[in-house]
Amino acid sequence: MSSDPGTIDEVVRHPTARTVRLRLCPASGRVRLTVPRRAGMAAAIAWANGKRDWIAEQRARLPAAVPLAGGTILRVADRDLLIVREEGRRRAVVLDGDRLLVAGPADTVARRVEAWLKRAALDLLTAETAEFAAKAEVVVAAVKVGDPLGRWGSCAASGTIRYSWRLLLSPGRVRRATVAHEVAHRVHMNHGPAFHALTAALLGEDPAPARSWLRDHGAALHRIGRV
Ligand SMILES: [Zn+2]
Repeated sequence: MSSDPGTIDEVVRHPTARTVRLRLCPASGRVRLTVPRRAGMAAAIAWANGKRDWIAEQRARLPAAVPLAGGTILRVADRDLLIVREEGRRRAVVLDGDRLLVAGPADTVARRVEAWLKRAALDLLTAETAEFAAKAEVVVAAVKVGDPLGRWGSCAASGTIRYSWRLLLSPGRVRRATVAHEVAHRVHMNHGPAFHALTAALLGEDPAPARSWLRDHGAALHRIGRV
């Protein structure tokens, strides 16, 4: 993020956009100005410059970014993990009790911690998906993790379930409710009453509080590792 909170970070010409628009990316905090193919660039930029107060206000509302760096405490699967920088050249990130030890070059720490978290997310989500799939008596073809902005999980007709790795940073109940939701889609490819009943039965509790937790705190999860 730039130091001037009213700054526009990117200007893109868009072939099919119909109007000039400004958008703040909730993950990166970057502001993009989209200009339709035939619109005047200078006029679009002048318009956007008139919105600097609005941009600054939107940025100020973003949850704080959390660096994946030494000294940061992350809430990971219901436990606090402290990232600790160590001397030496070891490339592997090592979990030692409640500490995540990271040696090696400083400029690769964030990337390696994120890779470790993604791996941990995949392991945990794979195990929980298998647990719920056995309960529901369905087959899940594959489990994958990614970093989508708009959704926490998705289930393809092919049987592949994809999750946001950031679910690892949410409370366990929230994560498990998301897994139960996606596994229930292996039975019902809709959000009808039978689907909701199955999700609650798999989970053993009402998943609604988990959904609302993600609505309230999801933006903050997207700010982790974004510095
Ligand atoms: Zn769904």
